[in-house]
Amino acid sequence: MGKTINQNHQIVYTCSECKMKYYDEATAKRCEEWCKKNKSCNLDIIKYVIKKDEYTD
Ligand SMILES: [Zn+2]
Repeated sequence: MGKTINQNHQIVYTCSECKMKYYDEATAKRCEEWCKKNKSCNLDIIKYVIKKDEYTD
């Protein structure tokens, strides 16, 4: 799991499997575990994904 800071100086966690970004570490962890096991997205988790317009590298 990756950890970066966005343009608003918020900590952002990245799922190392699907590269989706979250503000919440626990959610990012859940995503990563799900991705490894299922190789698919969990709608319950991806509703917390940070949208592109809220985040720039
Ligand atoms: Zn993921």
